[in-house]
Amino acid sequence: MTLLTFRFAPSPNGELHLGHAYSALLNQQMAAQAGGRLLLRIEDIDITRCTPEFEAGVLRDLEWLGLRWERPVRRQSEHFAEYREVLDRLISEELVYPAFMSRGEIRAFIAESGGRDWPRDPDGVPLYPPLDKALSARERKRRIAENMPFAWRLDVEAAIARVAAGLSWMEFTNERMAATRAIKAQPQAWGDVIVARRDIPTSYHLAVVVDDALQGVSHVVRGQDLSSATGVQRLLQELLGLPQPRYFHHRLILGPDGRKLSKSLKDIGLAALREAGMSPQGIRQLSGL
Ligand code: GLU
Repeated sequence: MTLLTFRFAPSPNGELHLGHAYSALLNQQMAAQAGGRLLLRIEDIDITRCTPEFEAGVLRDLEWLGLRWERPVRRQSEHFAEYREVLDRLISEELVYPAFMSRGEIRAFIAESGGRDWPRDPDGVPLYPPLDKALSARERKRRIAENMPFAWRLDVEAAIARVAAGLSWMEFTNERMAATRAIKAQPQAWGDVIVARRDIPTSYHLAVVVDDALQGVSHVVRGQDLSSATGVQRLLQELLGLPQPRYFHHRLILGPDGRKLSKSLKDIGLAALREAGMSPQGIRQLSGL
């Protein structure tokens, strides 16, 4: 029998809040129910925003909550060489291209070409203009040699043409995992997403699919806000020949204003709740578990 593997994968770029607690504990509960194991992965590729202090806080909060995970913890920043290898494959297969436009240039280009009607991704960000995709190999080399900043973007059209039609994923219909349904992946909704930076050979999407495969993750349980990103990740899995996990995108915990909790909104963090006298059991109840 193959080992069922779940993972909780926080980014240490702020303090954990109630939404993270719910996600972590739900992973633990579902892993226990399935007789599987739970891994913890620290997603710290954004080395400018992730800090050792935040990571220590994350571990402290999770231990306090009563989360138990298998060692060793995978820390993404320690694996750049592995992501680099995968990125090199995508480069040699001409599935990614260097994209040079700055935010300001993107904004100006869009303002000149339709403005309001320009397509946007599910997060509301305008899709990347098609200019750089059309650059000659010579011009790309010249710009890179000149040290122009760039990011590696997926040529989503070429990528989709490369994989079987009808890309989808299997989503559990609820946390009891008795049934799944197929969801159609729509990676094109995100346009040519960034798969790596010039100095960091990966992005969130690439690191997630590489790690889920390397760690044998069979069950991805995470918030509904990441549901549409799954389309991009399924596309990368197909391009790279990686196995596909099953997914469950759980409900989000909303703040009193009805908005999703976020680290930047300075929502009440788990540490603050603990200091105010809340127990781990209280956190469970508050999150509706
Ligand atoms: N690191 C991501 C986050 O904290 C979650 C990634 C995932 O679960 O796939 O939002």
